[in-house]
Amino acid sequence: MKPAAFTYHRAYDVNDTIAQLAELGQDAKILAGGQSLVAMMNFRLARPSALVDITRIAGLDYLERDAHGLRIGALTRHRTVETTKVDGFRVLARAARWIGHYPIRCRGTFGGSIAHGDSTAEWCVLAVLLEAQVVLQGPRGRREVPATEFFHGFFMTAAQPDEMIVEVRFPKPAPHAALTEFSQRQGDFAIVAASARLDLAEDEVRTSRIVLGGVGQQPVVVDADLAGQPANEETWRAAGETAAAQVDPPSDGHGSSAYRKKLTAALVARALAEAAA
Ligand SMILES: Cc1cc2nc3c(=O)[nH]c(=O)nc-3n(C[C@H](O)[C@H](O)[C@H](O)COP(=O)(O)OP(=O)(O)OC[C@H]3O[C@@H](n4cnc5c(N)ncnc54)[C@H](O)[C@@H]3O)c2cc1C
Repeated sequence: MKPAAFTYHRAYDVNDTIAQLAELGQDAKILAGGQSLVAMMNFRLARPSALVDITRIAGLDYLERDAHGLRIGALTRHRTVETTKVDGFRVLARAARWIGHYPIRCRGTFGGSIAHGDSTAEWCVLAVLLEAQVVLQGPRGRREVPATEFFHGFFMTAAQPDEMIVEVRFPKPAPHAALTEFSQRQGDFAIVAASARLDLAEDEVRTSRIVLGGVGQQPVVVDADLAGQPANEETWRAAGETAAAQVDPPSDGHGSSAYRKKLTAALVARALAEAAA
């Protein structure tokens, strides 16, 4: 398949990108790693009139740990996240291996994945789990949107067509966090993904957070407070059942709604056990 006709433009800094997007109009799109956009264009699911290629912008490829947490530049490749183990945020490196295949991880970008807003995408799920902030720049200046408010639905986000994601900030380290998922083949998108974050005191849960992918149009936060419960298999299993009872997943060619519910129960229990370990 070939894409519909479009014009190609290259941007060399963020302001240049914003200016070009404003000039080219609402049908123009940013091109980052191209690992989602180009496939969609080839299938004619996306028909942008113009592409603004941001891959030559310098200085947006970084993971920086500071007193406020971790900052990831929009053009950081999945592979860079996979190979950079940052204390307190090792869940990101561990989760990266679930993303597609090696060549996809070498091309695809952190900002591109967040902008694409696929509800099963590992970075979208973890951004909600770890309560990240998405930093956007546009003609009206910079703004930060909590990841919990960024994903609006099926491939829809709070980003305006004339805005660019420049950074994603993770404010709080999460030493006890994990993401696990199930897909039919290695490298496929998850049918269901489950992520969990725990604060533990001795053998007891102090706080917990569980976020799912693939069970709704955007990452879903599970309403389950495990505070005060023992950090053991029985607690994890019960939390899995609670999560499954709360979701009403879609059915499609990859699995029925009932199958996704069963996966949810099993994967939440597994994610909690991995997070605790
Ligand atoms: C076979 C295959 C398997 C895959 N498996 C997985 C998987 O398991 N998990 C997963 O998460 N992903 C998977 N992907 C997708 C991959 O992770 C993409 O890299 C990612 O979704 C998009 O990042 P990108 O940099 O390639 O963005 P692009 O494809 O270039 O762009 C995607 C969208 O985001 C917009 N955009 C890009 N960057 C920005 C920005 N900085 N600001 C604003 N808008 C922006 C674009 O305009 C476009 O709408 C897979 C892809 C393929 C081809």
